[in-house]
Amino acid sequence: MKIKESVAKILDELPEGVELVAAAKARLPEEVLEAVQSGIKMVGENYVQEAEEAYEMVGNKAKWHFIGRLQKNKVKKAVKIFDMIETVDSVEIAREIDKRCQQIGKVMPILVEINSGEEEQKSGVLPPDAERLIREISGLKNIKVMGLMTMGPRFGNPEDSRPYFIKTREIFDRIKKLGLANVEMRYLSMGMTNSYKVAIEEGANIVRIGTKLFGERNYK
Ligand SMILES: *Cc1c(COP(=O)(O)O)cnc(C)c1O
Repeated sequence: MKIKESVAKILDELPEGVELVAAAKARLPEEVLEAVQSGIKMVGENYVQEAEEAYEMVGNKAKWHFIGRLQKNKVKKAVKIFDMIETVDSVEIAREIDKRCQQIGKVMPILVEINSGEEEQKSGVLPPDAERLIREISGLKNIKVMGLMTMGPRFGNPEDSRPYFIKTREIFDRIKKLGLANVEMRYLSMGMTNSYKVAIEEGANIVRIGTKLFGERNYK
């Protein structure tokens, strides 16, 4: 299916209130542009370098979400391009984003990434540590906590992802109820090509979809 057709199909199928981030890793800038011209409003990038290349072509015709593992030495570049960073999982990285945003007079909306499967090699904060992290970073003036993001373990069967989405949703609700200053629990980013329907059933209002929009990736 052409990018244009798959974008139209998914946009048509998503319930109201659920936003679509086109996960663009390993795609050419031309493909990202085509997706945006077909109705994509938010592009998700895993790598700052790829984002810079796509940004050169697409610019502000879309909002840019960082969805990869953010290295400290890339933050300075990242804060210039991105409109949201979905993968904050440590005080250190939050402080660096805060510092670099302060230098350019920007307040960065961020999501805290939850390692909902408690997998050793995965990024994200462990569920029992999420509240403490959010309390610690909520005082930073140049970031704004806007919600949570999770990947969850990879499964062939999307039903197997459900418990991890439920767990993340529970953390989301609990933190929302605390009503912390400078924390607005508005976005819950969960679900990819294989799992987004289940994620929406469990409360996701941002889904990040790559393969179903652009086709199979050749690498990464
Ligand atoms: C690649 C990626 C996606 C999209 O994955 P697909 O299975 O291609 O839809 C979503 N979120 C993150 C963080 C990713 O790295």
